[in-house]
Amino acid sequence: MNKHATKLILVATILIGGLFVYNGQKHQTTSVNQGIAEASIVKPKVLKYGLDVQDVVFQDFKIKPNAFMGDILMSFGVDFDKILALEREAEDVFSLRKIRSGKNITFIKDDECADPSGFIYKPSLLQFVKFDFGGEVCVSKHEVPYEVCVESASGVVNSSLWNAMMDQGFDVALVDKMEDAIAQVNFHAAQPGDQFKLVYERIYVEGKPTSTGKILSAAYKSGEYLRYGFYYENDKYKGYYDQNGSPNKKTFLNAPLRYSRISSAFNRNRFHPVLKRRKAHLGTDYAAATGTAIMAVADGVVTHRSYTKGNGNYVKIKHDKTYQTQYLHMSRFARNVKRGTRVKQGQTIGYVGSTGLATGPHVCFRFWKNGRQVDHRRENFPPLNPMDDSELPEFFAETTELIDELQAVPFADRKVVFAGNNAD
Ligand SMILES: [Zn+2]
Repeated sequence: MNKHATKLILVATILIGGLFVYNGQKHQTTSVNQGIAEASIVKPKVLKYGLDVQDVVFQDFKIKPNAFMGDILMSFGVDFDKILALEREAEDVFSLRKIRSGKNITFIKDDECADPSGFIYKPSLLQFVKFDFGGEVCVSKHEVPYEVCVESASGVVNSSLWNAMMDQGFDVALVDKMEDAIAQVNFHAAQPGDQFKLVYERIYVEGKPTSTGKILSAAYKSGEYLRYGFYYENDKYKGYYDQNGSPNKKTFLNAPLRYSRISSAFNRNRFHPVLKRRKAHLGTDYAAATGTAIMAVADGVVTHRSYTKGNGNYVKIKHDKTYQTQYLHMSRFARNVKRGTRVKQGQTIGYVGSTGLATGPHVCFRFWKNGRQVDHRRENFPPLNPMDDSELPEFFAETTELIDELQAVPFADRKVVFAGNNAD
C-alpha cells in the first residue's frame, strides 16, 4: 500500500468539552485551614503524597536498566542497615524488586542539601507507595485522590481509514474503547463523512486530566446508518447495549489487532512479494509493530500452536462446528496459550512478528468456514441474543439520562479539505 496516499488523510473537528462532574466517585480533598476565630490569614495547605509541599523537597530520579534499589539508595547516603530494614518491611507491602527500571522514583528531602528521608514510587497512575526511612522504617501503600469528570467529543471521519485519527492526535485509548462501545461498526471500513460522538469519563489527578475512563455512550453515523452504544452494568449484565437493549458485541471481532491497518487484503489472485509469483492470498494481513498483542476474535479452543516454514509461529482456534481462525507469523505465543486452551474473545494469544514467510511484522489472519478459507470482512454473522424482557424496564430507566447527555452533544459536521487521495 502506498504510504503517501494514506498519510495525509485528515480527520476533522474533535470538540472536547468538560461537561459535568460524575458523582459516586472519589473526589479530591484539599484541606483548607481557615484559622477559626483568628485574624491571621493562614495559607491553604497544598498536599502532595500526603505531605505539605512547603515542608519538603521532592526530587525525581530515573531508575536505569539493571540498577538495584539498594545501590541507588546507598549512593543517596542511606545506611546499609536501613536499606536491609526497608527491604524487609517492603516485602509485605510492595517489594523493592517490583520497582521497575525506566520509571521514576521521587525522593523526599527536608531541603535541597539533605539526604533523603524516603521516596515515593508510583506503580500505577492512581496508586503510590511511600518508603520512609527518615526515622523508623515504614512502607505504606496509598491511593491517589482523583476526580472523574464526564466529557464529550465529536468528530468527522474524512477518510476510509479509521487509523488516520490517531495521526491527528486523537486519544488512542478512546478510539479503542469506542470500538468496544459500538462493536457493530467496522471501524476498519470507516467512510469519509462518517460522524461520531461520545460521552466518556476522564480521570483528573491533582486537577490535571489524565487517562480516560469508561465510555458512557456513543453514536456513530454513516449516511443513513446510525448506531448507539450505552454502558449498562448490574449483577447480571455488564457492557454496551444499543437503545433497544441488544448487546453491542460481535460474534467475531473485526480484526485480531487494535490500531492496525490492512496491508494486504484477501485476494484469490495476488502477486506474492516474497515468492515473486501469483498466489492466492487467502488471508487478511494486518501490519503492526513487532510485539503488538494479537487477540482471539471470538471465544474458542486452541487447536494448533505450532511452527511451519511458511506460517512461522501460528495459532489456530476452533470457535464452533462452523468457524475456525488462524493467526500467522507471530514473534512469540502468549504464555498461557497451549493446544486445548479455552480462550475468550479479545484475549491475547500471541504477539506480532515476522516469523515464516513474511516481509515485515504483520499478522496474516485466516478465517475458516466449514473447512474453506473465506474473507471474514464479507461474512455476515448472526447477532447475539438481546437481554431478558424482564430486564428492559430497568435498562430503559437507567439509560434515559445517558440518552439525554448524548443528545446534548451535536454531531460535528465541519467539512475539512481532503488532502491526499485514498489508497483503498
Ligand atoms: Zn497474509
